[in-house]
Amino acid sequence: MNIVIVGGGMVGMTLAHLLRQRGFEPTIIERMSAGHYFPRGYMLGFQGYEPLEEVGVYDEVKDAGRPIAPRPGEPPVAVAVRFGALIEALQRDLPMENELTVTSLKEDKLGRFTGVVCETTPSEILGIKTIDGAGALGESAEDRPASRPQGTFEFDADLIVACDGTRSPVREMAGLSAEIDPLPEAAIGFGSTTPADESFAMAYMSDGGHIGMLSWHEGAAGWRSCDKVGAEAALAPGVDALKEMWTRLLPASESALEGVTSIDQFRYSELSLLRTPEWWKPGVVLVGDSCHFFGPETGISSGIGLGDAHALAEAIRQNPEDADAACHAYETWRAPVVRPYEANDPGRQRIMVAGQVEPTPEERWPPA
Ligand SMILES: Cc1cc2nc3c(=O)[nH]c(=O)nc-3n(C[C@H](O)[C@H](O)[C@H](O)COP(=O)(O)OP(=O)(O)OC[C@H]3O[C@@H](n4cnc5c(N)ncnc54)[C@H](O)[C@@H]3O)c2cc1C
Repeated sequence: MNIVIVGGGMVGMTLAHLLRQRGFEPTIIERMSAGHYFPRGYMLGFQGYEPLEEVGVYDEVKDAGRPIAPRPGEPPVAVAVRFGALIEALQRDLPMENELTVTSLKEDKLGRFTGVVCETTPSEILGIKTIDGAGALGESAEDRPASRPQGTFEFDADLIVACDGTRSPVREMAGLSAEIDPLPEAAIGFGSTTPADESFAMAYMSDGGHIGMLSWHEGAAGWRSCDKVGAEAALAPGVDALKEMWTRLLPASESALEGVTSIDQFRYSELSLLRTPEWWKPGVVLVGDSCHFFGPETGISSGIGLGDAHALAEAIRQNPEDADAACHAYETWRAPVVRPYEANDPGRQRIMVAGQVEPTPEERWPPA
């Protein structure tokens, strides 16, 4: 089977390794340059262990990180690790078509998708980078010359796998719908170059909102839900007020906050949950974030995506001549895993009761 994977993020790369181990030679098309990723911390949940073990990178990632909820004689529930430890391990020895952006899909007369058309990625997109490489959250852009000559390129495929993230251009081009449900609250996050004493801490607040902290060896990050007031109003109280609030509501984050000195290390965002009613059409299948995205405090989005990659690789191995049969098997195996997580997402529960419960004055952000 001729397979084109669109997106060389963690799910696309994991799928590519698992397919190569099964005798296939997929083409990965990635819009960014070779070796690119946004540096940050990352929580690898247990759902992602098996696929990474099979790829052969789990031990390396686990050893580079800190265990979360370690259990004697058992693997930890999750691992807090530098994001690059996983991405660099997956990028190793993996051929990829970099600096190409998929712009349209090829379709035959019967409506089957048969390939992708790509353009060289514009230099201003290649230049997007983080302000602070050690885990802060801001982004900036600068022109970065493309190493690939400008042009249009085509790749034929029996199966196009959309591993192109939550906004998934491939999903849209294929006409697969997405249900995007904005969360009723916003989020503020911080990035710090100082690790905390503990690898993880989280608390729920009285209105069902949450505050948490993740710390890997090289840094830490925090997040909390807050009123949907826009970035300016949410960050207006300033660095000291934000640090005071964080330490008061989540004392375990105190040592992480020592490395926070600038308001640029905070970021305000408004997040949405994402689910897709259908996961494939003849010639195209959704995997990872293109297929589903969960609430921020679940910490499961990537682990579920890695599990998708595992299931799809095995479905293709079992149906090497029939892409539709492989997609059908993939959906049959994964729906009983993924759909319950979607239904039980705590963010979805908050959407249902939004406006019914007020936070206490001490928890409210920004303060009244
Ligand atoms: C700040 C932040 C923190 C997070 N923390 C955690 C965490 O701790 N634990 C966890 O489990 N999950 C976490 N997540 C979610 C996790 O990062 C994602 O679930 C995971 O990265 C999904 O991988 P993916 O490969 O499906 O998609 P992505 O990582 O989004 O990769 C998509 C790739 O497709 C490429 N692409 C997009 N469009 C095109 C195109 N047209 N042509 C070619 N290439 C294209 C992109 O450049 C990108 O490389 C976090 C997310 C964010 C934003």
